[in-house]
Amino acid sequence: MSDKPECGGKAPALSVAQARQALLDAVTPVVGWEMLPIRTALGRVLSRDLVAPFDVPAHDNSAMDGFAVRAADLKAEENRLELVGTAYAGGAFSGQVGPGQAVRIMTGAVLPRGADTVVMQEAARLEGDGVILPAVSRPGQNVRRAGEDLAAGRAALLAGRRVGPAELGLLASLGLAEVAVHRRPRIAFFSTGDELASIGRPLGPGEVYDSNRYTLYGVLSRLGMEVLDLGVVRDDPAALERAFTEAAAEADAILTTGGVSVGEADYIREIMGRLGEVRFWRIDIKPGRPMAFGRLGDTWLFGLPGNPVAVLVSFYQIVLDALYRLQGLDPLPVRPSFRVPCDSPIRKLPGRREFPRGVLFQAEGEWRVRLSGNQGSGVLRSMTDADCFICLPEDRGNVSPGDLVEVEPFGRVL
Ligand code: AMP
Ligand code: MG
Repeated sequence: MSDKPECGGKAPALSVAQARQALLDAVTPVVGWEMLPIRTALGRVLSRDLVAPFDVPAHDNSAMDGFAVRAADLKAEENRLELVGTAYAGGAFSGQVGPGQAVRIMTGAVLPRGADTVVMQEAARLEGDGVILPAVSRPGQNVRRAGEDLAAGRAALLAGRRVGPAELGLLASLGLAEVAVHRRPRIAFFSTGDELASIGRPLGPGEVYDSNRYTLYGVLSRLGMEVLDLGVVRDDPAALERAFTEAAAEADAILTTGGVSVGEADYIREIMGRLGEVRFWRIDIKPGRPMAFGRLGDTWLFGLPGNPVAVLVSFYQIVLDALYRLQGLDPLPVRPSFRVPCDSPIRKLPGRREFPRGVLFQAEGEWRVRLSGNQGSGVLRSMTDADCFICLPEDRGNVSPGDLVEVEPFGRVL
């Protein structure tokens, strides 16, 4: 990262895909892990492969309430077998199923020795001390095989997987009380701008409340990061330098908002470059054009734009994958998108990738999308009222009502 900060508007231009990839290529997972009780590990990222210590299920067992039999005994249209016992889930039948015999069996009960097939109860008719069963269409039917879910010695979950509800259940099914996870990355963030007021005091003339620290708190917390809120820092080089230096001593990454364009009071990239290394780009994205990325010691620096919507769009579209990688996630989560007709006209010039915010709705059984109101890059209501990004590629021009557009529903962090 030796690029000198560039002057004026001459910063190198990157596509959204290139910018996302550049961050991803640079960032590596945090070092350090801890053992946690599995419930506490919810949302965390596994730091080691988990090998199944035994087969799951541990035994062949019945998938149905019914009768455990030998398939070879059920050749005729109707077959009478002698009932010799019952197998319960948690109460195995200790005997053996011999030729011409059947054992009544409950779902989850261990398949008795000798039996190879289960006939479901609904197909059976009890008669005296026997049972009448139809022909078996498929030997082995309604039996769950030992190791069918997880085979002993095989990886049940790979390192890099986030622990969700299903993973918790799977860990429990292996009898594991604790699990090794990556430590949580610590992310420091601060807002920059002389016009910013913190909530809790009245606004002075020309001031606006700082909202970016709250949206960043929201997305970072949902990601499962340890967050370090460093407040508002004035557009003052000495104060900014202090903030970067202090934050870098504590955090794995620093996110700043504002002060990254080419105005008089935009010091961020210059200071990042002075203290550490920096790359500065003009990204072909709307909203969110300028962005700085760098490193200060062992700490990653992300200088986001100031406009509140641009913060969330550039965070989500450019920075997020790098933070996933910092957490140790592998593979990165997919972001499904699909094409739907758009009801709203959208003005767009070819050149930049644009992410207007949309609302998905159904009309006559078909999914459609419309714009979520005023799309100004400072208008947070375009995010709060939305549930998806409308992703308009670089070469796209205006959208007319009824045109197909790509939509990307907000994922678990927005
Ligand atoms: P800047 O990139 O610093 O020039 O900021 C661009 C615009 O975003 C200006 O209108 C700022 O007032 C606004 N802005 C910057 N930071 C914040 C913030 N933390 N909260 C709300 N608005 C902000
Ligand atoms: Mg500013």
